[in-house]
Amino acid sequence: MGSGFGVTLKLSESFCRPHPSSQSFNCCYIRYTPIYYPSAPKSENCGKVEPLPVPQLQVYSMATERHQAGLEIFEYLTTNAYQIQEQVLEEILNRNARTEYLRGFLNGQCDKQLFKKNVPIITYQDVEPYINRIANGEPSDILLAEPLTGFYRSTGTSGGQPKLIPSIDEEDKLVLRDTLIESVIRKHFGDLDKAGKRMELMFAKPEIETPSGLMARTATTVLFKRSSFINILPKLYTSPIETIFCLDTNQSMYCQLLAGLIQRDEVVRIGSIFASAVLRAIKCLEDRWKELCSNIKTGHVSDWITDSGCRNALSLILKPNPDLADSIENICGCESWEGIIKKLWPKAKYIGAITTGFMSQYTAALEFYSGGLPLVSSFYVCSEAMCGINLEPLKRHADVSYTIVPNMAYFEFLPVKKDCPTIFPDQVGVSHQESKEMKSNNEAIEPVDLVNVEPGQCYELIVTTSAGLYRYKIGDILMATGFHNNAPQFQFVERQNVILSIDAEKTSEADLSRAVTKAKALLDPLGFLLTGYSSYADTSSTPGYYVLFWELKRKESNDTKELDPKIMVECCSRMEESLNYTYKVYRKENTIAPLEIRVVKEGTFDALMDYYVSQGVSMSQYKAPSCIKSKEVMKILDSGVIGKFSNPEIRF
Ligand code: AMP
Repeated sequence: MGSGFGVTLKLSESFCRPHPSSQSFNCCYIRYTPIYYPSAPKSENCGKVEPLPVPQLQVYSMATERHQAGLEIFEYLTTNAYQIQEQVLEEILNRNARTEYLRGFLNGQCDKQLFKKNVPIITYQDVEPYINRIANGEPSDILLAEPLTGFYRSTGTSGGQPKLIPSIDEEDKLVLRDTLIESVIRKHFGDLDKAGKRMELMFAKPEIETPSGLMARTATTVLFKRSSFINILPKLYTSPIETIFCLDTNQSMYCQLLAGLIQRDEVVRIGSIFASAVLRAIKCLEDRWKELCSNIKTGHVSDWITDSGCRNALSLILKPNPDLADSIENICGCESWEGIIKKLWPKAKYIGAITTGFMSQYTAALEFYSGGLPLVSSFYVCSEAMCGINLEPLKRHADVSYTIVPNMAYFEFLPVKKDCPTIFPDQVGVSHQESKEMKSNNEAIEPVDLVNVEPGQCYELIVTTSAGLYRYKIGDILMATGFHNNAPQFQFVERQNVILSIDAEKTSEADLSRAVTKAKALLDPLGFLLTGYSSYADTSSTPGYYVLFWELKRKESNDTKELDPKIMVECCSRMEESLNYTYKVYRKENTIAPLEIRVVKEGTFDALMDYYVSQGVSMSQYKAPSCIKSKEVMKILDSGVIGKFSNPEIRF
């Protein structure tokens, strides 16, 4: 909110904290940003609205104070969810009602009811022409009054295409977001920053200059470039900045692991944004632990690390340390890698990574390696907006709900008719709950406001942001689970646009995940872990059929047991039995041919990740596609196939 003028006001008692340097009880002064922006063209009929102060955190210099305030601010925001949302929308309309985009629907007025009546609900494709015009040099005020600072490059790998998302200076929101997340962690784990460092695997990507001169960056790269992050990095994290900005992901990963191992006794938390990157790190460790130990023993980093930034940064922390190398060698040399994370980083208190939604496929493997460390999914965030935080970090991933943060965007929720899983399906015996009855068929389904969502109902998330997205479908399906104060809480269900279909049946990401979970349970007792899967609908022959790519790994490295084809055929049947009713009807009619599982060799899903990373996706934001649409990707997976299984028999 850089162009706004700050006003200081005294906030209610609940935000008052004794100042540590005095005995007296000082009230904190909180900065808030009023709704008018001097630079923005004034819109018609946009009267001055009563500003509800949105607390800011700049006043707190001490981390402890700031984090305590974070929790209180969250209470304030969620208690006043309705008013805050109204204000967010008002502010956006006051500033942007006269832009070319909104003028077409609002005629320059900033009436909220008119906004809901006239402004259409859109997808990226609808707004893309405007975004492209800005990227090609037209002024950004065709979409928003405030100047853009650049674009976020959304990864789009969970189903859609990479997107350019407009971004503005929202430092206040970023600070608040980070503080809220950390406040919750502190509440449950104490002040971990005092106890040690974070081994967080982070990967920046190169910036791309658009013809307008505006830069397009991944959201994570923007975070890594903030001076506030760079300043605290050496104190709080094990990865030197040069390793994060090394553009060769393999070198970056190796060096971050090396730095994490050197400082293993200081590490109190481990993680990355998504679970897949943590598993990728374990794979790198498995492949290279002897080399890593040799580097630590000799104090010399391997020659293939050619990135000068990485070499220089490591030379400052890498000293010959045979004792450390020996102890790591002893741990990694064990036959079973069960619990390896806890053994290597004994002071770690949790693994922080998103394990909900499609990431739930990685939880079994992570749990195997974690040694009992909790897996913490702290937030639900997209390049478009910060959406929610998890207030109960110790809950198992299947039960995690995210509470919407009401001042981050204007949120609406479009009810969708579907079976909502009451827990995300990485568990056998998942229970189902019918989505609440929808309106009668011929009544148009309208989105509801944040305070009006109903627990048990599934919704598609719609956001209106300060950065020029209006009633924009992010593409995620969420299930309302309850409220924290007046702010709703949601489980992440699935990406909307990922669907397998041969005929009229539709299989969603969550359906698929449930079926895979049921089937892979047959392999768990035999010592195999499913470390990655993806799918596509093969319609090149008639009838078409579902193809699943599975990457399996033995839990014990010395285990030579072969995969039993009979069990794999059984897995195919289990999957089919677990798919939806329509699938089964078509399958019985032979409109759909038997589902096929193609087992790929170990490392195939890493090759897939490498491919996406080579295409510009940040490893930090990478999500393996649950459904494959590109020929290139198909080739990668097909080239790794070591066995194909299907069962023509129908059991349902
Ligand atoms: P990106 O914009 O590339 O960062 O991707 C954002 C997308 O990642 C979201 O729209 C979700 O589909 C997914 N995502 C983000 N946070 C979570 C979460 N906590 N659980 C499941 N999926 C998530």
